[in-house]
Amino acid sequence: MRIVHVSLGNRSYAIKIAPGLIDRFGRECARLKLGPRCAIITDTNVGKRYAKAVFNSLATAGFSPSLIIVQPGEPAKSLKTVQSCYDQLAVHRLERKSFIVALGGGVVGDLAGFLAATYLRGIAFVQAPTTLLAQVDSSVGGKVGVNLNAGKNLVGAFYQPRLVACDLDTLKTLPDREFRAGLAEVIKYGIVYDAKLFTQIERDLTKLLKREPKMLASVVARCCEIKAAVVGQDETEGGPRAILNFGHTIGHAIEAVSGYGRFLHGEAIAIGQVTVAKISRSVLGLPERDLERIIRLFRRVGLPTTVRLRAGQRPKLFAAMRLDKKVSGGEIKFVLAKNIGNVVWGQRVTDELVYQALDESMNRKS
Ligand code: ADP
Ligand code: ZN
Repeated sequence: MRIVHVSLGNRSYAIKIAPGLIDRFGRECARLKLGPRCAIITDTNVGKRYAKAVFNSLATAGFSPSLIIVQPGEPAKSLKTVQSCYDQLAVHRLERKSFIVALGGGVVGDLAGFLAATYLRGIAFVQAPTTLLAQVDSSVGGKVGVNLNAGKNLVGAFYQPRLVACDLDTLKTLPDREFRAGLAEVIKYGIVYDAKLFTQIERDLTKLLKREPKMLASVVARCCEIKAAVVGQDETEGGPRAILNFGHTIGHAIEAVSGYGRFLHGEAIAIGQVTVAKISRSVLGLPERDLERIIRLFRRVGLPTTVRLRAGQRPKLFAAMRLDKKVSGGEIKFVLAKNIGNVVWGQRVTDELVYQALDESMNRKS
């Protein structure tokens, strides 16, 4: 088992990464000294595969779990679902010492974390992420929340879990498209923080795509280490944590403008990362060779690197970028790369440069 510590004073916790963790889940929770009652929140897809094992493991360890199942997909991250879950938590009589288990991908993690942050003014929660994206990114760092019609993640909190248990076996049943989309976040860590990780992914991509257990263990652990280090420095994103948003301002806007559902989050941020890499070449002199490596790696993973926007969608894209939570005083700030492994945040970029980068012909050699 690999263990990564997230150091946040009295809110510190461990990320545990191993195959077969779900079967030991109850024992892992028992170490946290929580009350006996808990609620497992999951979606129908994950629930049918893993809820029983988690439930039994908790029961064997002496807990009294209840199960709350939501619909899969982004629409579950809504205040309507929150309301229905609150009612169920009350029916199951969860108390201050009770805890919530988030069993699923990023959607379930964000929703369950938000419930935990707010129910009875906050009860403990444990993340059991089952997608690559959630294991390397969304389950770590304490951002929880739900969507409004006006935009994604507009209501939420910083609320840290007590434990993150990444069972690598659960990744075996993840649909191919979801797995590849998760790799967009993995590549992001390489670009923003760790050139060696980037090179490792280039070298071992075939094994990674085959989901070889050793490869998964090493990559998930490295990404969690990076996220833990960044979040440990800046929990609430006053500064350095912003580097994790590389490609996200444009990515989120693409998700919004193309109608949620056309692109998975990982796909949209793949386009976003390639676009800001092009901007980085103009603004910071990111070497052409680094830009080519970035584009080539996303392509090899099977992720999109460009998007065709109709003329009418362009103003909408910029409007969506200005709605992003990272905007202050109407000004969009970008994370740009100097080279692979090294980025700077808080960079101003003109709309024109963004247009150019989105337009740039993709007939480059790769
Ligand atoms: P993300 O982590 O990408 O934000 P979601 O929570 O939206 O993900 O999950 C993506 C999809 O994959 C959902 O339909 C979810 O039910 C499904 N899913 C999550 N984990 C697994 C798994 N281990 N095996 C199969 N399907 C899964
Ligand atoms: Zn992301």
